Amino acid sequence: MEPNLPAATGFLADVRQDGGRTLAPVFAALGARDRWQERTGDAVLHADLVHSGTPAGARARTRGGALVFAGELYNRDELVGLLPGGASPDSDATLVAALFAVYDVHAFRLLNGRFAALIADSGRAVLATDHAGSVPLYASVAPGRVLAATEAKALRTAPRGRPLPARPVRRLPGTHQVPAGTVLDIAVATASCLPHRTWTPPLARRVMPEEEAVDAVRRTLERAVAARTGRGTPLVVLSGGIDSSTVAALAARRSTGPIDTVSMGTDEADEFPQARVVARHVGSTHRDVTIPADELLSRLPHTVWASECLDPDIVEYLLPLTALYLRLGRGGDGGRRILTGYGADIPLGGMHRESRLPQLDTAVCHDMDTFDGLNEMAPALSGVAGHWSTHPYWDRDVLDVLVSLEAGLKRRHGRDKWVLRAAMDDVLPHEVVVRPKLGVHEGSGTTSSFSRLVRDAGVPRDLVHRVKGLVVQAIFDRVVVEGRHPDEVATGAVVERVAGHVVPGTRPVPR
Ligand code: ATP
Ligand code: MG
Repeated sequence: MEPNLPAATGFLADVRQDGGRTLAPVFAALGARDRWQERTGDAVLHADLVHSGTPAGARARTRGGALVFAGELYNRDELVGLLPGGASPDSDATLVAALFAVYDVHAFRLLNGRFAALIADSGRAVLATDHAGSVPLYASVAPGRVLAATEAKALRTAPRGRPLPARPVRRLPGTHQVPAGTVLDIAVATASCLPHRTWTPPLARRVMPEEEAVDAVRRTLERAVAARTGRGTPLVVLSGGIDSSTVAALAARRSTGPIDTVSMGTDEADEFPQARVVARHVGSTHRDVTIPADELLSRLPHTVWASECLDPDIVEYLLPLTALYLRLGRGGDGGRRILTGYGADIPLGGMHRESRLPQLDTAVCHDMDTFDGLNEMAPALSGVAGHWSTHPYWDRDVLDVLVSLEAGLKRRHGRDKWVLRAAMDDVLPHEVVVRPKLGVHEGSGTTSSFSRLVRDAGVPRDLVHRVKGLVVQAIFDRVVVEGRHPDEVATGAVVERVAGHVVPGTRPVPR
């Protein structure tokens, strides 16, 4: 049992009026399994949970039914203060159920968390994602039944569902992904669905004196890291870049003992020296993990399996971390709580290396408009090794602050991510504060080794990106649509087959 993790990290649930068959629970996320059944009005809720020892904490009764909850909340204290009569719920699921009794679907507008939830109540099925959709949620809905799961593959044998106001999933007809920051309020009998947006990225920009902006960023980040650190020793995945160094430094400052940090590299590239500078500075117990490029590429199917992501650029960001999590294994005490610096560049426009303010804000607007459905933050990425990852930069309050700062605070005095760097000036060594950005896909040699694999299969340079996209699609079809285990899928064989279709007549160049 590991009480330091959320009660559940995933679920498959169905709400049925006909008492028909339930699906087999299939998840990439590792964990103990628990099955729960509850009658709610004229329907029955079945739920399979992936849990970490305390499944009762992931379910609760509502006035007219029941709720299942995968993930955790980060603003518990303020939420508890909203409940009548000084109630003190014993789990996040109970807290959400109590808020639902007061606010109905609007309860989800109040939550700052990393979760997916389903409520079956008085003939309704309510499906909800957090503001960022950071725990993906999929649904297949027809009159008399609502099926929902935190991984699309769990619904691959579901009977065909009706169209929903949500994104269809490739080659799983009738299965849809619930958008980020959304509640779908579904009448089970008729399958009619009313969507509510519970969060959208801020569109306006705030003008602030430097000092005020720097303070706001520091304060909200400190709170976000504190809310995610839990009771045990946190593990921070650390590159030595400003984003993860900030998280490590803030976690270390509030920890009584040394925190743990880990860096990954390959036989081609690493950021070990830069990470060591930070580890020494914050006094962490630090490890370097070298993963040979061949092993890294062999984890591409696991990355697509866990994230269910179809975007080849995003998959390149996720691959090195997934390979690292798999290398870490589960450990004797069960899964770890892992903090990352992932996602800071999206609201700050960090990866665009753009110094012109209009173009910088255009990039931020575009990235905030298009993150949904990429599943960059999916917990199954670390869940494949039984861990729970959480990302302070995508805390709802941090994101609200970072997105809304005017572009001149993001790019200032010749530096990208200026406001973040300035906020950490007194905590990190100067060389870390001013270190230029290096993406995880670059610093680990992931993009270059994947490109080489594709080029070695005879693909000309100008088709490499297209072939990568088709490779990711082909892998998705095997491990999500066909339900195969990623250990059965060889990256090299998929690359050669795709290359053969795209560039007929090419013969792979021997390596
Ligand atoms: P910067 O964006 O300035 O380079 P960063 O390296 O912390 O800062 P990214 O490069 O965007 O951020 O990487 C995203 C996250 O992935 C990091 O914040 C960190 O948590 C994790 N990460 C990146 N590279 C590594 C690595 N080599 N080893 C371990 N974790 C890493
Ligand atoms: Mg980096």
